[in-house]
Amino acid sequence: MPGITRRSGLLLGGAALLTAAAGAPDRPWAEWDVAVIGAGVTGLSAARNLTDHGLRVIVLEARDRIGGQVHTDHGFTSVPVELGAGLIHGAAASTWELVDWAGADTVRVRSEQHWSPSTAVGRAAAPRDDDSAAEYLRRLGVPEADWPPVSSENEPLSRWSATWMVERGEFDWWSAPRADFRVVDGYDRLLAPLAHGLRIDLGRRVRAVRWSGGGVELTMRGPGGTERVRARRCVATLPIRVLRTADVVFEPPLPAAHRDAIEALDATDAVKLVMEFDRPVLPADTDVLPSDGDLAFWSVSHLSPTAPEVVSVWAAGEAARALLAQPEDERFAAGLRALGAAAGQTPPDPVRRTTHDWTLDPHSRGAYLYVPPGAHDAPAALAAPVGGVLFFAGEATTGENTVEGAYDSGYDATDGLLADL
Ligand SMILES: Cc1cc2nc3c(=O)[nH]c(=O)nc-3n(C[C@H](O)[C@H](O)[C@H](O)COP(=O)(O)OP(=O)(O)OC[C@H]3O[C@@H](n4cnc5c(N)ncnc54)[C@H](O)[C@@H]3O)c2cc1C
Repeated sequence: MPGITRRSGLLLGGAALLTAAAGAPDRPWAEWDVAVIGAGVTGLSAARNLTDHGLRVIVLEARDRIGGQVHTDHGFTSVPVELGAGLIHGAAASTWELVDWAGADTVRVRSEQHWSPSTAVGRAAAPRDDDSAAEYLRRLGVPEADWPPVSSENEPLSRWSATWMVERGEFDWWSAPRADFRVVDGYDRLLAPLAHGLRIDLGRRVRAVRWSGGGVELTMRGPGGTERVRARRCVATLPIRVLRTADVVFEPPLPAAHRDAIEALDATDAVKLVMEFDRPVLPADTDVLPSDGDLAFWSVSHLSPTAPEVVSVWAAGEAARALLAQPEDERFAAGLRALGAAAGQTPPDPVRRTTHDWTLDPHSRGAYLYVPPGAHDAPAALAAPVGGVLFFAGEATTGENTVEGAYDSGYDATDGLLADL
């Protein structure tokens, strides 16, 4: 795996200066070089880069934890359970340097060729600007049975921009041999190299960003009521649906190109149902069952041979919305039935279960980003700095919806800001 490269600051020592929602120091009017909104992987990478270059940086995070969509539950059972991101995609992912730094163990969990694309894709006529990937494939004459199987982990192809997928080589991604990896002690192990020594204020839900050529003033709900932070620059790493629902008000309003970009992009819905069984339910030596088209099935039991079997049944897009429309008991019953059908044997009732509804979560209002038809230019539009002081970063500015994409985005967006300062 690659070693530490340009992220030399990762080698510095020190623990994160986390201030919890309760007992935070009374410093409502501190001046900062940069205020970073959000302590997901993008926000942490951004703050890491800026801090390592000597700037005074404060990270404001609405939740009482860091990580955002990286959310490892260490309390559910004896093995860590990923309620959000679970996989490192490929041996070339940039986040391997975090794995190295953290000294984390990984295990390969999936390695298979998923899709044999029609040679027509990407080589035939370019898609029209507002084509969905489904419309494009239909026009190319690719039979539906030969479309890439994205539905269990993503929005269906009818909701994706064909132009985006072709320009970004997404069709190639689905056809390339896949080697995915899991972090044995939990994905959140990779957060420590980013967060160490940073000033991160938890429980700070930013409500308003007032900006001018002179800097920004952020107003937020904190443990002591309304708080304000002033900074010369702001990096906003807010999830797209938080931006779309105007949870955070920008004063003056953002330029039209930014508002249009926010309207054009969207996040998928995703749900994970995690169940612990008192005996193995997947065939021996199997940790991933083939998706049934709607649901995906993962076991984490091989992480600890002595642990009972823990299985994650999960869905995104239409299948997630269908599950989320049901009461929780029925969701689990549906997940159990599907697991039994995929495993070829009826599983016992789980001894324990947990779930996380990303759509109801007020700090994400959905899971990872997707790029709808017509929105292929939106990420670049949102990435343009506003008034020289306000920088957006993260999924919505890159169109990437992976941990490695967030890691790169935090660094890339702030490299520009550093050049500017
Ligand atoms: C169920 C699921 C499965 C996934 N699986 C994988 C996978 O296997 N592999 C992979 O690479 N990626 C996966 N992803 C996607 C990956 O986790 C994300 O693309 C990545 O973590 C995004 O990081 P981010 O920092 O840009 O955004 P986020 O992680 O969403 O961070 C944004 C932060 O902003 C905070 N925030 C929101 N509103 C406010 C506010 N008003 N004030 C202050 N803070 C605020 C949030 O609390 C959050 O911490 C998955 C995601 C989910 C949900």
